[in-house]
Amino acid sequence: MKDEEMEFLQEQLEATELLPCASCQQETLHAHVEVLERYAHATEFLMECTACGTRRSWMLLETAE
Ligand SMILES: [Zn+2]
Repeated sequence: MKDEEMEFLQEQLEATELLPCASCQQETLHAHVEVLERYAHATEFLMECTACGTRRSWMLLETAE
């Protein structure tokens, strides 16, 4: 894995995202827990709701170059 990719993943893991939570039934901040899968132009993360702790997967599409 290239350095830029590692940096990208590291930045994503440190960030939070506003995502709909099934338990809270509203958009809440979700923290990145881990990378589930790497695809050619997307990364699937395991996300955890910072309000109730419910976990969900989340696909982040990378901008095409
Ligand atoms: Zn929640």
